[in-house]
Amino acid sequence: MKKISLLGATGSIGTQTLDVIKLHPDQFTLEAISIGKNLTLGLDIIHTYIPKVVSVIDKESYEYLQSRVPDNVKVVYGDEGLIEVAANVESQVVVNAVMGSVGLKPTLKAIEAGKTMAIANKETLVTAGHLVMGAAKTHNVHILPVDSEHSAIFQCLNGEDKKALERIILTASGGSFRDRTRSELKDVTVESALNHPNWSMGAKITIDSATMMNKGLEVIEAHWLFDMPYEQIDVVLHRESIIHSLVEFQDTSMIAQIGSPDMRVPIQYALTYPVRLALPLSKRLNLIEVGKLHFEEANLERFRCLQFAYDAGKVGGTMTTVLNAANEEAVQLFLNRQISFLDIEAYIEKALEQHIPIKNPDLDTIVAVDQETRKFVNTLI
Ligand code: NDP
Ligand code: MG
Repeated sequence: MKKISLLGATGSIGTQTLDVIKLHPDQFTLEAISIGKNLTLGLDIIHTYIPKVVSVIDKESYEYLQSRVPDNVKVVYGDEGLIEVAANVESQVVVNAVMGSVGLKPTLKAIEAGKTMAIANKETLVTAGHLVMGAAKTHNVHILPVDSEHSAIFQCLNGEDKKALERIILTASGGSFRDRTRSELKDVTVESALNHPNWSMGAKITIDSATMMNKGLEVIEAHWLFDMPYEQIDVVLHRESIIHSLVEFQDTSMIAQIGSPDMRVPIQYALTYPVRLALPLSKRLNLIEVGKLHFEEANLERFRCLQFAYDAGKVGGTMTTVLNAANEEAVQLFLNRQISFLDIEAYIEKALEQHIPIKNPDLDTIVAVDQETRKFVNTLI
């Protein structure tokens, strides 16, 4: 029986993780969860799974939940609460499915406590990949990718000669606006940006997909997870989202991982690795129905956020912290209808331009740069 801690239980990845746990009651128990603002769904989850510990965002939510949960459920809150769920309970696996760099500290604490990490929260790796991977090495813990592209690469590399790896190729659906020109992006609405063609996900990552920053963040995520130089990480547009990513070896052989676009597949694999369990999806991939697969170049002038990510990644240090924080703030401003869609990339560019990168930043430096960048972005409105 694996005991699971789930950060971000009320989100898109969080609820799909709960689906997987529910499918295999003989394999998994839910030890602890964190929830954000969605207390209604949070209470549903608590009454269904009875986790031992529940963390909420603030004191107000804590007071609200206290009187509404079963007696044997302990409620905690804030940053300390997230850390308690990640590191101080009896779980073996921690699924990090929160949104944003708030996931960094609990991840580091969980690694120090020797927990296997299943990471969906890519912002954590983008903002401080060197700290996360460094800690994982020191404490000898597995970092298992949940992001579909990275799970694909991880699966393609199983049992392979990693020294002979030539290239990682990330596939990108292109997001909600893949068929629009730059000039057609000027007046797009929040609603149209939230309408992703292939995947149903949280709001922030859906906007990231429309700007292609999502793929940019994934390039940096791949750099850290697979220890690959940026020059050997490519992106190709693949509108069907059937090939989840590929690797190419020095002998020119390529291996791809293929499947239905359903996040429960990579989530379950991260929970069961190295074992595979059955997953009763309502629809299995039918290759005859798929018929054709398409590939196009990812144009870095059209998708400027992808270029920013490559540039920031190559500079390294705090540059990717700035990239991530500026993006998180700008996307939130767009979702709040305070700025336009194209302002997102303009704000990120300004934040990157004004920053003097710091090499090998420690945790305090990362946190300070993250905060400063968020403040800077808000001065641009
Ligand atoms: P959602 O917005 O659906 O869920 C985010 C979760 O984090 C919710 O439980 C939310 O709580 C919680 N949360 C948000 N802000 C905070 C905070 N400040 N403190 C504590 N908890 C917080 O996001 P997704 O599930 O879509 O994405 C989660 C992560 O996984 C992201 O990093 C994303 O990039 C990554 N990812 C997602 C994929 C997907 O298919 N959705 C695919 C690959 C990666 P509440 O809702 O209660 O407020
Ligand atoms: Mg992805």
